[in-house]
Amino acid sequence: MTADDSLDGKVSVVTGAGGQIGEGIAVELAKAGSDVVIADVDVLDTEHNQQGSKEVGGATRAREVAERVVEQGSRAHVVECDVTDAEQVESMVEETISEFGRLDVLCNNAGIITVAPTEEMEEDEWDAVMEVNTKGPFLVSRAAIPHLRETNGTIINTASIAGEIGAAGLSHYCSSKHAVLGLTKSLALELAEDDVTVNAICPGIVDTPMWNQVLTPTLQEEYEDTIKRAIPLGRDQTPEDMGRLAVYYATNRNVTGQALAVDGGILQNVL
Ligand code: NAD
Repeated sequence: MTADDSLDGKVSVVTGAGGQIGEGIAVELAKAGSDVVIADVDVLDTEHNQQGSKEVGGATRAREVAERVVEQGSRAHVVECDVTDAEQVESMVEETISEFGRLDVLCNNAGIITVAPTEEMEEDEWDAVMEVNTKGPFLVSRAAIPHLRETNGTIINTASIAGEIGAAGLSHYCSSKHAVLGLTKSLALELAEDDVTVNAICPGIVDTPMWNQVLTPTLQEEYEDTIKRAIPLGRDQTPEDMGRLAVYYATNRNVTGQALAVDGGILQNVL
């Protein structure tokens, strides 16, 4: 690692870091030298999510992710925080500053999914997805911006290839991720004068509860068949792929307002 891609002395917050992509991002940031605040939640007030239960267990898994961060030689701090709750978000950011003294890298990664045709979709199902996926990044960014200004930091939003295309049964999810890209581009412009960069990661297919519990059964084909059919490179993507892009964004001062698909070519695969 060169001095240019080191995050030594930096502090990152990763939301939804008890989940698998969040873990990949937290560990790669730690490998690059960053201390990491691992934020997640054990219980949501809705069953509309990939676990199909209010009990999502994210904060419990976050403690295991913290151990992996520490194994990389970085410091880790777990905070239970629901990204849809402004008060919890404000205290999570305050806790980050009191624990580590600064904030350089904010990764808005928490996200949920369900599948329903629009005409059958319940209103609270739509709201739940929009609240976590779109309002969450807004609330956490709002709380973090004053601190990111001080460090000329960066915001990295986990969007999705669903932020670029539509998908039947996913009108709420696709809308929420398109909105994340709108937030990314707008914040990039708002914060440019403060030398704060804002970018998005668009994962393709990663073997997490989103795919194996929700999307694979809905597509009515095996996960491996989906990979072969949909991905030109013929393999799925990994949490580490997303983490490595996060490190790239966090260490490049002249990339802002971008959304890179880490999808093995899915978005090019129109025929
Ligand atoms: P995951 O289920 O493994 O992780 C999601 C995490 O978010 C969980 O730990 C969950 O507890 C947490 N979370 C949910 N609601 C929360 C809330 N209100 N506050 C705080 N934390 C909350 O899923 P994943 O696949 O790792 O998803 C991570 C991100 O990647 C999401 O934004 C998702 O939309 C995006 N994504 C995933 C895929 C994929 O193929 N898995 C593809 C594209 C985009």
